[in-house]
Amino acid sequence: MKRFAVANWKMNVPAEGIETYVQAIGRRDDVVIAPPFPYLKEVAALTTAAGQNCADQRSGAFTGEVAPDMLRDCGASFVIVGHSERRRLFGESDDLVARKVSKAIDAGLTPIFCVGEDQLIRERGGAVRFVSNQIRAVGSSLEKVGEIVVAYEPIWAIGTGRNATGSILAEMVYEIRGALQRFWPAHVASTAPILYGGSVTPENIDDLGGNGRVAGYLVGGACLESRRFLAICSGLERLDPA
Ligand code: PEP
Repeated sequence: MKRFAVANWKMNVPAEGIETYVQAIGRRDDVVIAPPFPYLKEVAALTTAAGQNCADQRSGAFTGEVAPDMLRDCGASFVIVGHSERRRLFGESDDLVARKVSKAIDAGLTPIFCVGEDQLIRERGGAVRFVSNQIRAVGSSLEKVGEIVVAYEPIWAIGTGRNATGSILAEMVYEIRGALQRFWPAHVASTAPILYGGSVTPENIDDLGGNGRVAGYLVGGACLESRRFLAICSGLERLDPA
């Protein structure tokens, strides 16, 4: 199974500047960089790039939105869809996320589809059910899917410095794979790489990846310095996802 590290710059530019950063990472098959939209073309000229979001429409009167085809025109191969910051801060529902996934696939992009529960849901024992429902919600958008990546990103771990433990992750990735097999077309259910995101650092990747199920990482804060992101990328070689 393919391994990946995805750098989600969010609304930031690495301190060292775009070109220096991307050149330090180099062009690698296992790395995807997701810059803010205005820098997408520049990044995509140097390495594999992702949009951080896309519209659920192909074109039209949608001020401020960016269509999946436009991301492709800028050189993106991937797009992050359903990130918890989009769901939480911008009110994106499961239905909207499903439409975005569908339009991204139509445009020839590989969706990086994010799921994850918040602290309260986890404390109440509802994490597996919550994430399974998020997975089920996009199932009908996947008729034409060729390739899709899943990112398990528990909200309580994003940007908090409180990463999931290896054992939480082992359980969740097992359950996520089961949900994919119940709700998604067979050809992607068993092959879609499952990444983990949430306060990933070079210091915790060996615990996070040690369960043999994670196919890589979606990284926010720790990707903003190429030196730290490169250390995380090096950890991909030690993964052995089932
Ligand atoms: C993210 O936003 O996708 C993320 C994982 O952020 P961080 O690594 O900062 O927790």
